[in-house]
Amino acid sequence: MKVSTLIIVIALILTAVFILLAEREPAVRLAPAEAVLGLGGYAQPDQAEAAASGDLVMQPGHAGREERARNSFTPAPEGVRPHIPILMYHYVRYVDRAVDPLGFGLSVTPEQFAAQLAWLHSNGYETVSMADVARCIRGEGPCPARAVALTFDDGYLDAHTEALPRLLVYGYTATFYIVSDFVGRPGYMGWEELRALRDAGMEIGAHSVNHPDLTRMRLDELRDQVGRSGAVLGAELGQPIVSFCYPLGRYNDTVMAVTREAGYLSATTTRTDLSQHDPFALPRLRISGDTSQARFEQMITAYLP
Ligand SMILES: [Zn+2]
Repeated sequence: MKVSTLIIVIALILTAVFILLAEREPAVRLAPAEAVLGLGGYAQPDQAEAAASGDLVMQPGHAGREERARNSFTPAPEGVRPHIPILMYHYVRYVDRAVDPLGFGLSVTPEQFAAQLAWLHSNGYETVSMADVARCIRGEGPCPARAVALTFDDGYLDAHTEALPRLLVYGYTATFYIVSDFVGRPGYMGWEELRALRDAGMEIGAHSVNHPDLTRMRLDELRDQVGRSGAVLGAELGQPIVSFCYPLGRYNDTVMAVTREAGYLSATTTRTDLSQHDPFALPRLRISGDTSQARFEQMITAYLP
C-alpha cells in the first residue's frame, strides 16, 4: 500500500471515530474513579466498565424523558432570571406533636400538602426540578417565569405513598434526595419505589451514602459519600444524578468543591438566608408541620407575587 493511500485511510477512520464520538450520549462524570470503583454489585457490567474510567454512561432510554421534563415550564423572557423558591420537605404523614416534637417539625400532613399544591396550582405556579434550577442559575438553560422547586429529603416511604399521588394530580414534579445506603430499609423507599418516581417524571438526587456530617470527614471519606451515592443511584436508575443535598445542612468550602468535582450541577442547603447565585449553596424554605397555609402562601408570594 502506498503511503498516500495509507494516509487517506487513516484520515477516513479518524473522521468516522470523530463523528461517532460527537453523536454519543453525553457522559456525566459522577464521581472520582476511586470512589466509583467501590460500587461492587450495584453497577451493571457495561456501566461498571464505564464507571471504572470515571464516566457513567447513561442509558439512552431515559435521556428523552429528561429532555421533556426540562422544557415543561414557561420560560422567563430572555435575560430575566426570577427567583425560584426551593421548598424543603421531609415527611408527608401524621405526627402527634406532643409525642414526637422533632418528627412533627419534619412533617406535613397529607391534607396540608394537598392544600399547598392546590393553592400553587390555582395561582398559576409551575414546578421545576433541581436540574432545571441548576441550568437556569448556571446560565445553561432557560429560567422559569414563575415556578417553585419542591424537594424531599432522605427518601422516606411516604414520598411514594403520599407525596407522589398528590403531585401527579397537578402534573407537578419534585426532586427527591436519596441516601443511597438507606434504600430499602424499613421506612425508606426501595428501588421499586424510586423507579416509580423516576417513571412519573420526578428527579432523583443524591443525599450521601449514609447521612453523615460531611464537614467532619477525611477527604477520601468525603469523596466517597458524595461521589458513590450519586454513582449507585445513577447505576440503579439508569440516569444521571445531577443534584446533591448536604446531609444535616452541613457544608463548607471543601464539601462544596468535592461536590462540584464529582460532577453534580447543584447542591442544596438548609439555609434560607442565601441568594441564588452559587449553585453549590442553594437556600431552601423549610415547610413543616406548623407552617400554616397563610404562612406558606406568604413565603411564596414574597418572592413571586
Ligand atoms: Zn437529610
